[in-house]
Amino acid sequence: MRRSLVMGNWKMNGRRDQVQALFTALEDQLASFSAVEMVVCPPYPFLALVHDRQRETSGIGLGAQNVSMYSDGAYTGEVSGEMLRDMGCEFAIIGHSERRLLFSETNEVVAKKFIRARDAGLVPVLCVGESAADRDANRTEEVIAAQVLAVFQDGGREVFRQAVVAYEPVWAIGTGRAASPAEAQKVHAFIRKTVAARDPEAAATLRILYGGSVKAQNARELFAQDDIDGGLIGGAALNAVEFAGICRAACGAN
Ligand code: PEP
Repeated sequence: MRRSLVMGNWKMNGRRDQVQALFTALEDQLASFSAVEMVVCPPYPFLALVHDRQRETSGIGLGAQNVSMYSDGAYTGEVSGEMLRDMGCEFAIIGHSERRLLFSETNEVVAKKFIRARDAGLVPVLCVGESAADRDANRTEEVIAAQVLAVFQDGGREVFRQAVVAYEPVWAIGTGRAASPAEAQKVHAFIRKTVAARDPEAAATLRILYGGSVKAQNARELFAQDDIDGGLIGGAALNAVEFAGICRAACGAN
């Protein structure tokens, strides 16, 4: 039995007062709701603010949107996994498609970040997914296999224990066009099979989230699929009512 997980990626949005207001609204919406695991990933400057609030009350966990591939040292502008752990983060999103596309993160860099995050005591959330061009060329499985295998290659057979994978088709992110539940399930099953071929134990417990235009209205059907264990939510995570609706949709879905 895999416990559903819903993560909100706030991306590079908000100011201190907006972050306070969003977190307060989330606490109101989700007070005493603990049926699914919930995590928010604010921008770095607001991690401490959310962590202080989180300690006071809520059952909402904390994650980072990125992590350095290096541990502490002379790496100007970088933030290490150890620092994020120290700030109260439990999770770190690794290899989001925006980082792959806009910041040239290759599969090899993403694998290094995954392992650094894990070694620092964070749960790495590996984002994988194909572009529209890959999909049109029938290369979805090939692209995703390469993204997953790069992590095995660097981290060894047991690297996916204590990890999360998020399937995020690039064409579905921020477009309002989510994958259909059947389409997403097919890729999730492929990801689990790819991990199972190397580590069946990890595959059985691995949580695989779907991300890409999830809303409260389409979440239930997506989360009802056998291999979809929750969601990684972008735009809708900035609206407390919508995010809470998505969390409720994950309740009892698996
Ligand atoms: C994302 O960027 O991880 C994401 C899933 O975005 P959205 O929900 O806005 O499509």
